[in-house]
Amino acid sequence: MIRIENYLGNNRQASQPAGYLQSVNPYNREAIAEFPCSGKAEVDEAVASAEQALVGWRQTSATQRADYLDRIASAIELRSEQIAAAITASCGKPLTEAGYDVLDSIDCYRYYAALARELAAQQDAQGLQAVAIADPAFSSRLRREPVGVVALITPWNFPTVTTSWKLAPALAAGCTVVLKPSEVTPLPESILAEICTAAGLPAGVVNIVYGAGEAGAALVSHPQVRKVSFTGSTATGARIALETAAEIKNLSLELGGKSSIIVFDDADMEVALQAIMGGIFFNNGQICSATSRLLVHEGIAAELLAQLQQRVAQLKPSNPATAEAVLGPLACEAQFNKVMEYLAIAEAEGLQCLNGGKACSDGVSQWMVEPTVYVDVPVSSRLWQEEIFGPVLCCRTFATVEEAIERANDCEYGLAATVVSGDEQRAEAVACQLEAGHIWLNCDQKVLVETSWGGMKKSGLGRELGPWGLSAFTEVKHITRKS
Ligand code: ADP
Repeated sequence: MIRIENYLGNNRQASQPAGYLQSVNPYNREAIAEFPCSGKAEVDEAVASAEQALVGWRQTSATQRADYLDRIASAIELRSEQIAAAITASCGKPLTEAGYDVLDSIDCYRYYAALARELAAQQDAQGLQAVAIADPAFSSRLRREPVGVVALITPWNFPTVTTSWKLAPALAAGCTVVLKPSEVTPLPESILAEICTAAGLPAGVVNIVYGAGEAGAALVSHPQVRKVSFTGSTATGARIALETAAEIKNLSLELGGKSSIIVFDDADMEVALQAIMGGIFFNNGQICSATSRLLVHEGIAAELLAQLQQRVAQLKPSNPATAEAVLGPLACEAQFNKVMEYLAIAEAEGLQCLNGGKACSDGVSQWMVEPTVYVDVPVSSRLWQEEIFGPVLCCRTFATVEEAIERANDCEYGLAATVVSGDEQRAEAVACQLEAGHIWLNCDQKVLVETSWGGMKKSGLGRELGPWGLSAFTEVKHITRKS
């Protein structure tokens, strides 16, 4: 078993963590790593390390920072297989999907390197750039400055990827960082620590503190932390908003979802089936943007659901570390228990089950769930309304476009949606009326680094990726004078 230590500017932490926690492979429940259960003392040291490094890092040019990002990307590329294996061993996602995660993270570091260079080209040596002003009596110049020391808190469903979505723009902006990865998936980020050292990042620019909610809470409430970028549950996001309110901290929150996929009667059946299956079974449905509500036009519902039932029946969870695996176990015992509770609620509510509805095992894993589909789910059902974060799809039919939009928007979340229709114009018009941050038309859930990521309503605050992701780590300053 590997022993992971916190990663700080001057290598070793002076304080002794209260103890060590274990990271368990969810497939066979073997302990794969132990890592510090950090508390306030460890967090204080990490923030001090980030603060010390900020002095020099914020003065580097955006072009220099871009070079570091490219070096991180290349170092990740060299260790892709090792990182993908660590992701699969920590959260049980199929190895192929873990490989996509690594590629997405490489793209992200390279994208922000390019964006930093692009912005640098518009600025003078002091980082100032001209602003168009209509009043001839005045002129003004703009400077984008790093927010300062930032806390990055990530979940277990996309380690490496969510980290890159935060770390790459934070570094590009000139911030120094304290990252707290999920206690379920510390292993992939421990490789990132080695990569930061190998990339020659100045000590203390990136600090990693491992631990559970206690470490996260100490980090977000630390007075020297100027910004928190968090991905996780809506409940924890709300707690962080409360904990940081008095200090008026800059917040980015990427939270839960209960997204819809709307399939019209002119849809290509194959496109629809692939989008439905990918939207709920990719990463075992443990995706904040999972399209866990299927709204299908009544004219094609019988045919679509019959074909869906056949396809889902062929999906079997297996050892995620094999190249053929398409579904693994759920990521941890708590998540398995949570999904099982929802299956029990479905039974108590008398939902009609088309596929699955129970746990299963390949003889090794104890945290596997059959891919599950319920049909004719009433809107009052808890399974229709609440985020399950598992391989559980709830279906309903609709008669009119208005009804589909109303049903999709009848939700406390607003992260994503998919629309499938042969009429692209209609699909786009519907997309414009959906209350969600990202909509896919006739395709799978591809998240491109140039586009934004984040949600409306209880799905969060702010946007990651694209230029918006970089702006989230900068303060804007204008210097105005008489011309
Ligand atoms: P999940 O359901 O994915 O465990 P959480 O929102 O609880 O969702 O966890 C996401 C991340 O937030 C994890 O890294 C976790 O340790 C951290 N976390 C949990 N509680 C807190 C808290 N009170 N303050 C800050 N971070 C927290």
